Amino acid sequence: MHTVTSSSPPTGLDATLVDELRSLLPPSADTRHALAPFTGTPLPSIPQAHPETVAATAALARSAAPQWARRPVADRARIMLRFGRLLAEHSADLCTLMQWETGKARVHAAIEVHGVVSVALHYGRHGARYLRHRQAPGSIPRVVRAHIDYRPKGVVGVIAPWNYPLFLAVGDVIPALIAGNSVVSKADSQAPLTLLLALKLARQAGLPPEVWQVVAGPGAALGPALIDSVDYLCFTGSTATGRDIARRCAERLIGCSLELGGKNPMIVRADAAVDAAAVGAVQACFSNAGQMCIGIERIYVHDSAYERFVRAFVERTRALRVAADYSFDTDMGSLTSARQLDVTTRHVQDARRKGAKVLCGGLARPDLGPLFYEPTILTNVTPGMLVHSEETFGPVVSIYPVPDDATAIAEANTGRYGLSASVWTRDLAEGRSVAAQIIAGAVNINDGYLSAIASLDAPMGGMRDSGLGRRHGPEGILRYTEPQTVTTQRIPTPYPDRHRWLLVRALSSFARLTASFAQRFPRR
Ligand code: NAD
Repeated sequence: MHTVTSSSPPTGLDATLVDELRSLLPPSADTRHALAPFTGTPLPSIPQAHPETVAATAALARSAAPQWARRPVADRARIMLRFGRLLAEHSADLCTLMQWETGKARVHAAIEVHGVVSVALHYGRHGARYLRHRQAPGSIPRVVRAHIDYRPKGVVGVIAPWNYPLFLAVGDVIPALIAGNSVVSKADSQAPLTLLLALKLARQAGLPPEVWQVVAGPGAALGPALIDSVDYLCFTGSTATGRDIARRCAERLIGCSLELGGKNPMIVRADAAVDAAAVGAVQACFSNAGQMCIGIERIYVHDSAYERFVRAFVERTRALRVAADYSFDTDMGSLTSARQLDVTTRHVQDARRKGAKVLCGGLARPDLGPLFYEPTILTNVTPGMLVHSEETFGPVVSIYPVPDDATAIAEANTGRYGLSASVWTRDLAEGRSVAAQIIAGAVNINDGYLSAIASLDAPMGGMRDSGLGRRHGPEGILRYTEPQTVTTQRIPTPYPDRHRWLLVRALSSFARLTASFAQRFPRR
């Protein structure tokens, strides 16, 4: 057991709140703490669950699931709407906690709160519509009817990383609850308190305590126990961990959604509004200090716009205010962990050594805090460099000049990921044509990263090594359900197989006739 005196909470955060949040976890004599990125001082100690605790927690969630599932969907949605309102009301505390645990700038914490409130309001309002019973024509027209209902899976496990401990960790829980599941979340070890404050507010909104529970502890130890106890697993994190999770889920034949890594490209076409593209690039590359799965790490700029774009982008990047600060007066905060600082430093050093040019940034800033790194722009990056194709997940971007759209698209499609992309152009039709040729689950035209993930009625997720499944939209809630088909037959005829065979032959002939008629006289 580690006994560590944590640094006191930031001004404005009630110390008793931290104790109350810790008490929401299953008790354990084993505690661990992470370090506050702004200062390097210990964060509060967190009780660590063991695999047996995870199994017991999931069993409790399972016992509560049927009653929760029996409640009308409108009731469940109402609770989530109330939850959304409470999250908005407690925005200041959520932002402060999130900044303390992750070192992000306040503006990025506030955007995150806004994002999760929007998810709660969206699924609160539209969840019932997505889950609505539907009917389809059955095997014998007018005689058989198919009824489709979306039944909850049962218990859903949710594992999310530290970079968006509210938007990702809670945003994926909300639709699971509205669909009638109970949920067990494994909190990330860096930012459990943010998630626990959300849990407290959900219970305050009327959610029965057993229906959503949180455990904390190392992913490698608790992940397998969680997968073994649930009926579906929603994972957000690295591609390497995602593969392990997929293997374990496959063993149990349970479904999973995997929201994984990215090395997202931006294309600036010859006709782009260059200044706007530079502003968009600053947001897309340096928000959350670049620790963003949908952040841009590669920019392909048409030769004719290259110099203007680089000048505007570098100028705006140099103007960013980087600091450890709990006010809205900074534009970029700290990296969150020593691991992220290490990867970022390694990628830039490797690129520099192999001939890349650093246009701005390129250094750690221990004078600002132990994990700070400057927003960094590179050119002359070549395929042999780590930063060329590996995800940095830090404030580093490479710019490449390209002679035409075809080259930009081909370059954008290199590598193993396919999460998000951005295209800048004044011609929206051309922009959509370029987007259609990019291998990515989301493409933002004339925006760097945000508009697709903030369009909550539309699915969001990755192609290739960026994952499986989608969050948001109908896909984001239906993934937590089992569609059940019930057919009703108006004339209950237990006809012999011989007659059934004749009926099938007659229906097939009719289908063939209809198909050839449709082919000959297509509808205009
Ligand atoms: P990670 O895979 O190391 O950890 C993510 C979470 O999984 C953590 O909570 C961790 O405790 C847990 N975990 C670790 N090993 C596990 C195991 N064997 N079984 C179950 N759980 C386990 O990822 P990270 O490095 O902390 O996060 C950054 C990565 O996440 C980046 O690659 C980033 O692109 C990706 N990410 C993707 C999205 C998306 O929506 N596609 C969003 C945010 C981050």
